[in-house]
Amino acid sequence: MYWKIGIILVNVIFLTIGNKYYGCILMSEFLKQDIKFLPGVGPKRADLLNKELSIFTLEDLLYYFPYKYIDRTKFYRINEIHATLPYIQIKGRILGFKSIGTRNKKRLVAGFTDETGVIELVWFKGVKWIQESLATGKEYIVFGKPSLFNNKINLIHPEIEDVIKYESTINASLQAFYSTTEKLKNSYINSRVIQKLQNNLLQSIKGKIHESFPEYLLEQLKFISLEEALLNIHFPQNMELLRKAQARLKFEELFFIQLNLLKQKNFRKEKFRGNIFSKVGKNFNSFYHNNLPFELTNAQKRVLKEIRKDLGSGKHMNRLLQGDVGSGKTLVALMSILIALDNGYQACLMAPTEILANQHLEAIKNFLKGLDIHIGLLTGSTKQSERNFIHESLLSGELQILIGTHALIEETVKFKNLGLVIIDEQHKFGVAQRAKLWKKNVRPPHVLVMTATPIPRTLAMTLYGDLEVSVIDELPPGRKPIKTVHYYDSKRLRLFGFMRKQIEEGRQIYIVYPLIKESEKMDYKDLEDGYESIVRSFPPPKYAVSIVHGKMKPEEKEVSMQYFISGRTHIMVATTVIEVGVDIPNVTVMVIESAERFGLSQLHQLRGRVGRGADQSYCILMSSYKLTHEAKKRLEIMVTTNDGFEIAEVDLKLRGPGDIEGTQQSGIAFDLKIANLARDGQILQYARDIAEQVLEKDSLLTKPENSILVFQLKKLSKRRFDWSAIS
Ligand code: ADP
Ligand code: MG
Repeated sequence: MYWKIGIILVNVIFLTIGNKYYGCILMSEFLKQDIKFLPGVGPKRADLLNKELSIFTLEDLLYYFPYKYIDRTKFYRINEIHATLPYIQIKGRILGFKSIGTRNKKRLVAGFTDETGVIELVWFKGVKWIQESLATGKEYIVFGKPSLFNNKINLIHPEIEDVIKYESTINASLQAFYSTTEKLKNSYINSRVIQKLQNNLLQSIKGKIHESFPEYLLEQLKFISLEEALLNIHFPQNMELLRKAQARLKFEELFFIQLNLLKQKNFRKEKFRGNIFSKVGKNFNSFYHNNLPFELTNAQKRVLKEIRKDLGSGKHMNRLLQGDVGSGKTLVALMSILIALDNGYQACLMAPTEILANQHLEAIKNFLKGLDIHIGLLTGSTKQSERNFIHESLLSGELQILIGTHALIEETVKFKNLGLVIIDEQHKFGVAQRAKLWKKNVRPPHVLVMTATPIPRTLAMTLYGDLEVSVIDELPPGRKPIKTVHYYDSKRLRLFGFMRKQIEEGRQIYIVYPLIKESEKMDYKDLEDGYESIVRSFPPPKYAVSIVHGKMKPEEKEVSMQYFISGRTHIMVATTVIEVGVDIPNVTVMVIESAERFGLSQLHQLRGRVGRGADQSYCILMSSYKLTHEAKKRLEIMVTTNDGFEIAEVDLKLRGPGDIEGTQQSGIAFDLKIANLARDGQILQYARDIAEQVLEKDSLLTKPENSILVFQLKKLSKRRFDWSAIS
């Protein structure tokens, strides 16, 4: 009995929250319907729309936005048309059809006339259907691009529609264009057809589209209504309304992402208490006073302060440390680890490759010489007996710092009291991998993720919007900017001459070959051929050349690296296994073969392997003559700047956010339907500000006036991968 009353009560509350919210749910249910039920679709077309455009529901269609618009207010007269005009539309009648030519030149030609002249319409495909569905004498609107053939102007495969039907679709002055695929086009689903489907859909939901923002926000933001925006994005009444529609929809898209991220952040702050690292003790102090070989840069000092504040605050730290290659992130990581140790906690540091994990171990052991601190290394190639020992001493708490690769996140690795997790080059890890480290302690450890891949601000805000961000924007003193040049392959002899001179001066050299998964076999051949040709040009006993690549066994890699590090070999031929983190100050030349095949951020990472000592360093980009426009741009920007952030911005513009490393795993950039992270930075900032404002007054969105927002977030999280768990 009681529960019945309960349900009624709940219902009453629901309804009184307001029609808007309730209507919102109904509408949302309606839009969830299978696309096949929309008039004009049916099972066959639905199947194609599913497969080709991932349109499954009415809502998917509604949010399938046009990629361009063409002004359709102007009607040309036939006597005004010339072949250099872009798309045009004319109104007139078909005079008659004739079939011309044979075989693959066979085509259907129709004379089309208005009162000023005659033009030819031409079809090579779908001839039968055209002839059957179009009638001579009837009035049509024809739309297409004029071209010149046999000295006559004609329109090839024009869009054609009868005037009465045209006037019954939603009135628009700009025609939207939707991208389609070859398969869709072959099944006669072109942009125009999609537009008609949008028309059918919008007609049927007119007046029923509910707001996604609460009233107070709408008032503040002064956007057009959601319904108006959706109508105008598909059928713009005029340019101004189109702009307003775009502004609103972009804002909305970015706003809910930010709101989600920031709410998660609040949630985490309230739910998880952080371990309090209240003191700075013996380990930190004796390192700082006795072992630190150089003065910290101001940026390092600032970032350490930020981290210390987090660690001591009682809140849970979740911080991203960005700093260009060579800016000294490892040291900051180490000093944070020492604070954890001083407070009786263990710490771990995870790196994406064994080479890097080894290097961290060596560097840290070196830094900590003379201090009584126990450090272990755990990678894929750690032997079982060693492994068992590590597992035990982690559990007993004797092992204080664990360094390693993905091996760290295995279930069997358990700590006594893990207080701090550091993830180096975090863009190389997947979201799930990172999340696993969280669970290694009852109370989640503090997390510091580090990256040298400079992420443009807009992208960082979207990808890591729930993290605090620290930036090391200063290199240690005495570093000379790396000189970068671009050589075509023909300058190889000159390159070799230069390399000999550098070796004579006691320096070492990397030569990196691309290794792209899709062409792995060829690439390995290039690498091996390259290695042989280098050995021929730099023969023993005067010279020694090492090689390292991903197919070698870990021990072999290690030996090869050690030879090079100790200076016994002069040249290291490698794949991108040395891309991240590797730090050998005596190497002053980075030669990148087939540089046109690398992405910008990768080139920048590779270049960052040199310029780590006091000597002048060089990066030489080798390429063939055949370069795409984009590849040329990439090489140019590498030559002109050393600034990682500038490079990242250009990269984002050239490639679009979907290709930037780190976005793949999160899937986020692909899911944006209208906003563009490369172009809409300002809107993103605005969206974030507003989201912050909303959460300031209602940190977990529990107030009734924000129920619409909660509803929208729920919808969002069902549709998308849960990238909010990114740390
Ligand atoms: P990254 O930020 O790319 O990880 P690293 O931490 O590997 O950079 O540091 C690059 C090099 O600079 C290392 O050899 C490191 O010892 C050195 N280094 C770090 N901080 C300083 C500093 N304040 N002054 C001089 N050298 C430094
Ligand atoms: Mg590093």
